[in-house]
Amino acid sequence: MDLQMNFNGIDAYHSGTQRARVLTESWVEKNMYCPRCGNTKIIHFQNNRPVADFYCEKCQSQYELKSKDGVLGDRVNDGAYDTMIARITSNENPDFFFMGYRKQTMAVRDLVMVPKHFFVPAMIEKRKPLSPTARRAGWVGCNILLNAIPRQGFIRIIENGNPIERDKVISQVSQSSNLEVRNIEARGWLFDVLECVNLIPTLEFSLDDMYRFEALLAVKHPQNHNIKPKIRQQLQYLRDKGFLEFTQRGKYRKIM
Ligand SMILES: [Zn+2]
Repeated sequence: MDLQMNFNGIDAYHSGTQRARVLTESWVEKNMYCPRCGNTKIIHFQNNRPVADFYCEKCQSQYELKSKDGVLGDRVNDGAYDTMIARITSNENPDFFFMGYRKQTMAVRDLVMVPKHFFVPAMIEKRKPLSPTARRAGWVGCNILLNAIPRQGFIRIIENGNPIERDKVISQVSQSSNLEVRNIEARGWLFDVLECVNLIPTLEFSLDDMYRFEALLAVKHPQNHNIKPKIRQQLQYLRDKGFLEFTQRGKYRKIM
């Protein structure tokens, strides 16, 4: 995997944004494999497809690329807020690639894949509407909050200039598929409880450790007044999917 982007033909583009888009997209097309099936390449959609930027000929997976210069950080700018929420709630999102690149050299620094089923509305932050004097006055964009994605769905492909082994990436993507939940509300619960599990620093923990998050979860799910049973239900789900094991009554061990 060559991390350097290719400047061939780039002189035809004048705006900085356009140049960055062309450079990053052609890098992905030339270097990136399909992290779902391992196919050696993914194809760039012709024209501006509203739904995705790339697809895999072998498994038909679709990918969208978001890139920014510098480190990826906590959030990445995206398009219209309402469109993004509609895509997530109707399960129309493709998988996402998030890329951070070095602006000076145009070399890829970080690349992360987030499988589509990890997106929940809570991950999407509404930006302030554009000012009345702007060309698209009143338009509301969004940020994708990368720090709200559980680590099981934040799959590193390149980390600080170092590509991660392809087999490791593919196996992580495949494990993450076990957490696929189509219903958006159920998905929110699963990832909120998973995030609590991730926040516990030890491998082994108890139900009481989880109940400490009751107040936090109540804030995120104000309609639900039975937080404790919900926690137990999600832990059971995580066990059934191979992410946890129950060691004894009220005791758990993390597997992944
Ligand atoms: Zn594929």
